[in-house]
Amino acid sequence: MSQSAGQNPETVEGPTQEEFVAWVQEFLSRLESVDRSSNRHWCPQWWAHTEAVDRLATLHAQWLVAMEENSMSSWWVDHFDRHAAVLFSPHGPFGDCGTAHVAKGARRTLTTQRPPAEWSW
Ligand SMILES: [Zn+2]
Repeated sequence: MSQSAGQNPETVEGPTQEEFVAWVQEFLSRLESVDRSSNRHWCPQWWAHTEAVDRLATLHAQWLVAMEENSMSSWWVDHFDRHAAVLFSPHGPFGDCGTAHVAKGARRTLTTQRPPAEWSW
């Protein structure tokens, strides 16, 4: 077994859970997203969907890199667009869940709810 430097939580670098949640809330609130054919599936309780959490966490990690490297255009095209094609598809993690949670007359953007205190990623 190899000794991984990443196994001690105190040595793990990267965003905290709070930073990740804040990023999801802020970033997704800016997406002008809901397509009129209802093909974009989403759930305000995104944190309850494990695949979505994994995909969003990797998007966040790459977003941080892209910000550092001033390569946001590539992030949108090479990372966001490719994950979004799966994330929001009828066959993606929100396929059975998403639009049913959105109240009629709601703002036509993606909304989020804060995860419960006991949630961890
Ligand atoms: Zn859901």
